[in-house]
Amino acid sequence: MSDLCSMSLSRALLGLRRREYGALDLTRSCLERIRATEPYLNACISVLEESALERAAALDEIGPREDKPLWGVPVMLKDIICLKGHPCTCASRFVENFIPFYDAGVASRLKEAGAVIVAKNNLDEFAMGSGTENSAFGPTRNPWDLARVPGGSSGGSAAAVAAAQAFGALGTDTGGSIRLPAGFCGCVGLKPTYGRVSRFGVVAFGSSFDQVGPLARSVEDCARLFEVIAGPDPRDATSARLDLHPGGLPEQDFVRAALEGGEREPQDTLKGLKIGLAREFWDSGLTPEVERVCRGLLDKLADAGAVLEPVSLPHQKYAVASYYIMSSAEASTNLARFDGVRYGRRAEQAGELDELYVASRSAGFGPEAQRRIMLGTFVLSSGYYDAYYRKAAQIRRLLRGDFDRALENCRLILAPTCTRTAWNFGFTENDPLLAYKMDLLTVTLNLVGLPGLALPAGLGDESRLPVGVQLMGRPFDEAALFRTAAAVERLLPPLGKPGGV
Ligand code: GLN
Repeated sequence: MSDLCSMSLSRALLGLRRREYGALDLTRSCLERIRATEPYLNACISVLEESALERAAALDEIGPREDKPLWGVPVMLKDIICLKGHPCTCASRFVENFIPFYDAGVASRLKEAGAVIVAKNNLDEFAMGSGTENSAFGPTRNPWDLARVPGGSSGGSAAAVAAAQAFGALGTDTGGSIRLPAGFCGCVGLKPTYGRVSRFGVVAFGSSFDQVGPLARSVEDCARLFEVIAGPDPRDATSARLDLHPGGLPEQDFVRAALEGGEREPQDTLKGLKIGLAREFWDSGLTPEVERVCRGLLDKLADAGAVLEPVSLPHQKYAVASYYIMSSAEASTNLARFDGVRYGRRAEQAGELDELYVASRSAGFGPEAQRRIMLGTFVLSSGYYDAYYRKAAQIRRLLRGDFDRALENCRLILAPTCTRTAWNFGFTENDPLLAYKMDLLTVTLNLVGLPGLALPAGLGDESRLPVGVQLMGRPFDEAALFRTAAAVERLLPPLGKPGGV
């Protein structure tokens, strides 16, 4: 029974329906795996053993239900997503004692679909980072090589899924935090179109960027999770009213799209499909092995009949700067509510109110969160607003124009998820700008609000570490991403299991 957790989510569902095993068996198998691997990985901030076992037993009591698409499946949540009755730490000492009394929109959808939530995953504090090194609970390690980062900020979720601690997990992506760790850990991860998934009950970082999305071990598994969490939520004012979508909606059946892409011969899906390649992404200083793995994929795509078209994104060179200006501006306002009075741990030895704020915030926030607050406050201050924030907002608009033009002719755009594979701990420690530059290939999609699906393209021939690529699409066209990604997945040999655990 101990190996049940290594199956794909889709296979697990099949066995549950056929009563080969129950929800409790799967949950126990995951908990066993967590116990065995956590001493190395540190992918979870809290393991919800008791509530998960209780819930699985209750599900088994009722028996499998066809109308519950994730019935009996153990999954995890990044610890910035509220789950009623369990701490939501955001990997920060400041709010480590915060216990939400309600479920996030995505958490209630998972529960409604019959999933069992087994753990809350480690992350960079308030999702700020690219390596899961900025957690107050210590870093998560990469299951492919324990000396390396899993990517971030949803590194706990990606490491957990890659190490088969659960069948899938939900992360958040503000500037790449699902796609980057998916790439580094060899998982499949989706950043949905902005507004596609509810942000209700998700602690805000950059409100106009944040999206919740799934991480899984296959394209089909990822589609199954996404199908459950996608859709409008009246409690989130930015969640999209799809009935108002101009020109009608693209295909909305994600699981079917993934299944079709995976069942047909890859040529049937890829023949004649126009895939855009932007020089600005490909000439961005990829390491030779990332370049080799990705070029290998391009050759296979061309052999399968895909049409690879050069496209141009002239404003991409301003993306990292614009992203860090705007996301920090939003972060500084979002984090303003953590004052040690209404929210967050209160400093004890403070006299006046001002001192209380300063003492609480200085003790509560880690160095990266403090850096973002200072940067964000600076770019929003009068006198600097026009020079920074306004300019960044203009770039954002221009970039969206670049994408709209590129995606008029091409259905998708393909790029690596990062210029390199997972780095060693400490690589960016004394150089925050270096860490920011690692987001070069991911932040653009968040600026423009479009969907992106990351999947493994192979292992680097030197590092033997996963190399990720991302497919970017038109607004609300996630089905095209799933269909194409499933075909790509068939073109490539499986990565195998991570060797670090
Ligand atoms: N690495 C980026 C940052 O630190 C993205 C983080 C995210 O997507 N949550 O801002």
